[in-house]
Amino acid sequence: MINFADKQEVAKAAASIYHKHCRKYPKSQRPIHCVPSFEETIVRDSQRLKKKQKKLIYDSKEIAEQCALEITQTCGLPIQRAYPCPRSHHGHYHLTNQKDIPTWVKK
Ligand SMILES: [Zn+2]
Repeated sequence: MINFADKQEVAKAAASIYHKHCRKYPKSQRPIHCVPSFEETIVRDSQRLKKKQKKLIYDSKEIAEQCALEITQTCGLPIQRAYPCPRSHHGHYHLTNQKDIPTWVKK
């Protein structure tokens, strides 16, 4: 477990775990982000709009949950929930800190 006093270290450790699990471009190894469509951004309330819209992509629920677990165990951060992305055609997952999955996610 990382020393909590050093928030930068925690953030760095979490970032490397996110990076390990998320979908990346094969050559550059840079993370691929899921970006909301224009229609989505206009229907959402202003509070949500302020939040970061780009989300890391996980290929499966298992990968997303493994990532969330490692972050909790390594960094002591609250466990995040995996939810299927309503935008994806082939099915991919994101992690959220919110208790409920975002309201715009189709059930
Ligand atoms: Zn997505």
